[in-house]
Formats: sequence, C-alpha cells, structure tokens
Amino acid sequence: MKVLVCMSVVPDTTTKITFTDNDTSFNAQGVQFIMNPYDELALTKALDIAEPSGGTVTILHVGPADAEPAIRKALSMGATDAVRINAVPTDSQFVAEQIASYAKDKGFDFILTGRESIDYNGGAVCGLLGALLNIPSVNVITQLNISGQTASIERDIDGGRETLSCSLPFVASAQKDLCEPRIPNMRGIMAARTKPLQVVEPATSQNHVAYSRFELPQPKQGVRMISAENPEELLHLLRNEAKVI
Ligand SMILES: Cc1cc2nc3c(=O)[nH]c(=O)nc-3n(C[C@H](O)[C@H](O)[C@H](O)COP(=O)(O)OP(=O)(O)OC[C@H]3O[C@@H](n4cnc5c(N)ncnc54)[C@H](O)[C@@H]3O)c2cc1C
Repeated sequence: MKVLVCMSVVPDTTTKITFTDNDTSFNAQGVQFIMNPYDELALTKALDIAEPSGGTVTILHVGPADAEPAIRKALSMGATDAVRINAVPTDSQFVAEQIASYAKDKGFDFILTGRESIDYNGGAVCGLLGALLNIPSVNVITQLNISGQTASIERDIDGGRETLSCSLPFVASAQKDLCEPRIPNMRGIMAARTKPLQVVEPATSQNHVAYSRFELPQPKQGVRMISAENPEELLHLLRNEAKVI
C-alpha cells in the first residue's frame, strides 16, 4: 500500500490577521504556521490503513522552506517520508497541478487531502486532483476502508449518510469524523529528525488567480439591552436600525 497525503500549512488559529501591499497580500510576518487540521485527519487515516500491511505514507507540501517545521510534525506523526515542492502556492489550481505533476507516475494506491485549508477555504484541491489525474475523487469523507482494489467510503449528507465504493487509485478529502488526529510521541519526534524530506522544483505551471484586495470583517457591534417593559423600543430598533422587519 502506497499512499500520498497532501498537506497545507495555515496560520495558527490565534493569529491576528493583517494584510500588506495595499491589502493585496496576507502579512505572514511573525505568523506561526501549523499543519492544516483536516490534513492531520487525512494523515492519521492514511497511517491507520497503510501501517498494518507495512505500506508507506508520503506527505507532500507545495510551499517554501518555512513550512518544514510543520512537515517534520507530519513525519513525527508517522509519515514515512516527505516531499516539498518548492514554489509559493498562490491558488488551488496551481497547487493541484504541482501535486498531480509529482504524483502522476508514482503509483500511489490513493491520495488523501483535507476537506479544505482553514485559511483560504477553497475546498478545491481534491476535485482538481481527481480531474488532473483522471481518477475518482470523493469529497468530505467520514469513513474509509480498503479491501483489495476497492474503497468503501461514507459521507455525511443532508439528514443522513451516504455509502459508496470506488476503485483504486482515487483521491478523497478528509472531514472531521474520519478519525481522531494522532498525537506525535517522543519516539516519533526523534525519528522525524532523520526521515527523508525531498525538495522538488516545481513543474511548469502558472498562477491562475490574481488577488485584488483582502479585507477584514466589520467588528461585531456590542449588545444593546432593552427593557422588557419597553417592547415598542425593540420594534422600533428592529424596523429602523436593523431593518429586519
Ligand atoms: C499570496 C498568497 C501566498 C500564499 N502563500 C502560501 C504559502 O506560502 N504556503 C501555503 O501553504 N499556502 C500559501 N497560500 C495558500 C495557497 O494559495 C493555498 O494552499 C492554495 O490556494 C490552496 O488553497 P485552497 O484553500 O483552495 O485549498 P483547499 O482546496 O481548501 O485545500 C484542501 C486540501 O488541499 C491540500 N492542499 C491545499 N494547499 C496545499 C499545499 N500548498 N500543498 C499541499 N497540499 C495542499 C490540503 O490537503 C488541504 O487540506 C498562499 C496564498 C496566497 C493568496
């Protein structure tokens, strides 16, 4: 069993977000980047499937060298080796093209991604990979079992659950009920220091999207207390200020 897990790095959830270059770029100055939480689930599931049969799990990131601490974390969780494609990943299509170009002749049995990156939230890479590699792609999965050359997959749908099967190779994206993320232990952390991390130069591709402007949401307004004795004021505010009635 040979598995590829794609990993995005995202700002730590406590990061105070700011922009630079006239609000056209995210300001990464001083930001702590972490492994995208959905990718922790994808990696854990891949390890749970591959390890019993002595399979391998490769972690792949498209991005510059400052992601290497997060890549080492993935290795400490149990990934066999890592690949970093040395390019600034400015849009989903570019990322998917880089991953597909690397993966196309490596014979992976399946590829897992997260359901979305928690910063840019595109939710696009899994589907794009399926199209570029011409293999089945299944988004937002909550169960995965492999038997021979067939995968059995579950997905939550509105008010229920869907079970489907597809043939290997395929690509799927991890949703939160897939598993509990594995926490690296001391042995894993020590082993990660010497596991192979291959740096690959990017394939020829172009950025398809130019960002015109980022802006932060308006700060939330404070709570207004209205006396229970004064329903007229509540009606007045809902009608004339909030304009919801
Ligand atoms: C100006 C700019 C600079 C950026 N610089 C960086 C950067 O330095 N490092 C960085 O990681 N991102 C960077 N990004 C974010 C990058 O654009 C996203 O990784 C990419 O657009 C995919 O985002 P998405 O929200 O569509 O991914 P989604 O489709 O929401 O991601 C789903 C899954 O795809 C996989 N995936 C996503 N991105 C990657 C990736 N880069 N490598 C491997 N797998 C991936 C992961 O498994 C992820 O869970 C930058 C974005 C901009 C606009």
